[in-house]
Amino acid sequence: MKFRMPDFRISLHTRFALGLGAVLLPFLGAAAVGQGYLLPRLVEPLEDILRELVEEMEPATRLQMALLQAPMPVNDYLVHGNPNERRQFAQLRQRVERAFRDAEPERFTLAEERALIEAARAEWEQALPLGERLLHLPDPVGNAAAARDMERFDAHIERAVSALDEAHDHFHRVLDENRAQAAAARERALWLTLAAFVLAVAASLFAGIALARSVTRPVNALREGAAILAQGQLSHRVAISRDDELGELAAAFNAMAGRLEAGQAVLAELATRDGLTGLYNQRTFWTLLADELVRAQRFQRPVSLLMLDIDHFKRINDTHGHLAGDAILRALSELLQCEVRSIDRTCRYGGEEFALMLPETDADAAAAVAERLRAAVEAQVFDINFGTPLRMTVSIGVASWPKHADSAEALVAAADRALYAAKNAGRNRMMVCGEAAAGLPREAG
Ligand code: GH3
Ligand code: MG
Ligand code: MG
Repeated sequence: MKFRMPDFRISLHTRFALGLGAVLLPFLGAAAVGQGYLLPRLVEPLEDILRELVEEMEPATRLQMALLQAPMPVNDYLVHGNPNERRQFAQLRQRVERAFRDAEPERFTLAEERALIEAARAEWEQALPLGERLLHLPDPVGNAAAARDMERFDAHIERAVSALDEAHDHFHRVLDENRAQAAAARERALWLTLAAFVLAVAASLFAGIALARSVTRPVNALREGAAILAQGQLSHRVAISRDDELGELAAAFNAMAGRLEAGQAVLAELATRDGLTGLYNQRTFWTLLADELVRAQRFQRPVSLLMLDIDHFKRINDTHGHLAGDAILRALSELLQCEVRSIDRTCRYGGEEFALMLPETDADAAAAVAERLRAAVEAQVFDINFGTPLRMTVSIGVASWPKHADSAEALVAAADRALYAAKNAGRNRMMVCGEAAAGLPREAG
């Protein structure tokens, strides 16, 4: 069975945000492991060294205790003369010597401490024979010379103890310095890893957002473009110029919009123009006339309409064929367009009937134009490539707004009536609405 991703309704934006979060997770994990596990592990050996240093000092402390007790039996012997003090001293001496063995200078890392332990031993070695001698005096009690020797003994022990004190002090100073260094290193490491972490997260956030935007922006532009296109604004194009798949998609989108726009233009052309002559068709004629009348009403300017019909066109078709008739219709369209102003509108009203809208033109001026057109057609020799050159005439009806009508329909009807009158009056003439046929003979149709 094929695996299919569940089709959640999640926007691209949210998908990128989730993806970015997933990418950042390992960073957060690494930071947690670093801060919670690795960093303490890194600092631990340093702590071990400090602990070892403290242990290193332990024999020296024991030695100091033993040394401090050493003068007691000697002193007691000089006071009471009890020979048992010798045994006491022998035990203490053993303790001191064991302590000296335990605190051998080689065991100490720091040279200063080694020297101080040596100094203490030297003092002890000078005190020891003195002590032995005092304990074997036959008359210790009240012996003035013995009391002086006792002072020397005490002085040696005191110097030994203070050498050990100094070693302690020195050791603690070094220890404190090391501790401070360790704490500083720990803090530095903490800040460094924190800074590295923040930088890494910021960099990946930046990269992730930039990546997301590089995709969501063009996708949004395409989405908006498609919506605008769907609303019918076919001239809209998306402004994405990139050398990648999204760029190709945008180019394809724009090409599609271009084809739609061109297609729509062709359709619009087909809908507004007549296929044979290229003139506006009747549908467009009505729209243009309505616009023209609105304008004329607003500015209180006249507008005239000519309805033109080819005389006996049926005969032309019958004699020369419909293709020749079509060619005549095209040639006449060109002639009409050449004869009128650019603001005038020429339409094919239907069959061999044409309508011409003349803005800013009153009935008299329109009559003059109609007469000029009629004369031009009469004078024209139509060469339709079908053999003999051909001549023909047209009849034209003229009506004006506001003189002859107050609406588009009424204006067309008025011009039509005038055309009908012109036909009835014998064709090859123009007639203004409501005017007499000037006594021309009526011709049969
Ligand atoms: P009248 O002077 O009274 O206008 O006579 P007429 O023969 O022009 O009028 P009628 O209405 O009897 O005939 C119009 C002719 O125009 C009939 C029709 O075949 C022809 N016609 C209409 N449209 C076209 C066209 O597109 N091409 C061609 N070749 N002929 C057309
Ligand atoms: Mg006709
Ligand atoms: Mg006709």
